[in-house]
Amino acid sequence: MAVDYNKCIDCGKCTRHCVFLDKYGINLKEYAKRPDLAFNCYLCGECKRVCPVDIDGRQLSLDLREKRIEDGYNLYTDGYRTLLLEKRNYIFKNYKNVNSKIALFPGCNFPAYFPETTKVISKKLNENFGISTIFDCCGKPLDDLNMKKEKENIKERLNNRLKGLGIEELVLLCPNCFYYFRNNLDIKVSMIYEHEEIMETLVSKDSSKIEGALFLPCPDRDQRIIYKILERYVDYNNLKEIKDIQCCGAGGCASIKEKDLTKNLQDGFKKYEEKIYLYCATCTGMINKSNTNVDHILCKLLNTNEKISSGIKTVKNRALFSLKK
Ligand code: SF4
Ligand code: SF4
Repeated sequence: MAVDYNKCIDCGKCTRHCVFLDKYGINLKEYAKRPDLAFNCYLCGECKRVCPVDIDGRQLSLDLREKRIEDGYNLYTDGYRTLLLEKRNYIFKNYKNVNSKIALFPGCNFPAYFPETTKVISKKLNENFGISTIFDCCGKPLDDLNMKKEKENIKERLNNRLKGLGIEELVLLCPNCFYYFRNNLDIKVSMIYEHEEIMETLVSKDSSKIEGALFLPCPDRDQRIIYKILERYVDYNNLKEIKDIQCCGAGGCASIKEKDLTKNLQDGFKKYEEKIYLYCATCTGMINKSNTNVDHILCKLLNTNEKISSGIKTVKNRALFSLKK
């Protein structure tokens, strides 16, 4: 759906609230005339939250991306090759031993950053509830790049495979998978925190109080569905919400185009002395690059005390799960 940026009243709020727009000295109306910057937006939605006439920079960026690809722009030769080769038909997927109607689907980045916690969750769900684990990518990165053909292929492949296996529900760990699948999968999806019985077997009695700062993942900031579910396990009175940083830097695959800006976003977290809690593995891994005093709420609840993996180890972790028997 094309964005009607002509409604813009040039108030400048979007520019003031967005490091990307600010860097290029443009507002959303002007961004609409910059197809060269199509892939530089973090798709965080901060502009829409502040815009008095409700213009959505995310949709604008997606429209620009679609148009550029239609015009022949080749993402493979412009920095996205590695990402695309991994994700377009996820090379680390693993459907071995899937024999349950409900399956755990940890996504790409939770197993990448927290392999040991992933193993604990997978084992407990299998032992206590007969739930199998599927390792695959939901397809969100290619959706963000707005590669229509590739994302349709992923959607079709996933739906067919899950249907063929008789899967009726996926239990998720990742907010990106959750919001993406809600609109793109034919079967039910749920966040692990919704399952009280499962959480009872996972949450450690030794888990200490969660207090410090909280950074919300972009996909959950408007509706706060996961935030509200987590209220069962987290007292938000003990967490100060970080609101002055728009994105961890991973959104929209913009970090490939905006290396310095992404580093600045991550460095913005350095000033927080208290522990920063998150419920998105991608955010946790990204922020960990500048401030190691971070933890994923799920790891904290399970008391796994896992050191967050980084760099090439995250690729190795994903690869190892693809080999798991
Ligand atoms: S979606 Fe985020 S990064 Fe993109 S223009 Fe809006 S505020 Fe800026
Ligand atoms: S916030 Fe909305 S109205 Fe204001 S400059 Fe940006 S797009 Fe225009």
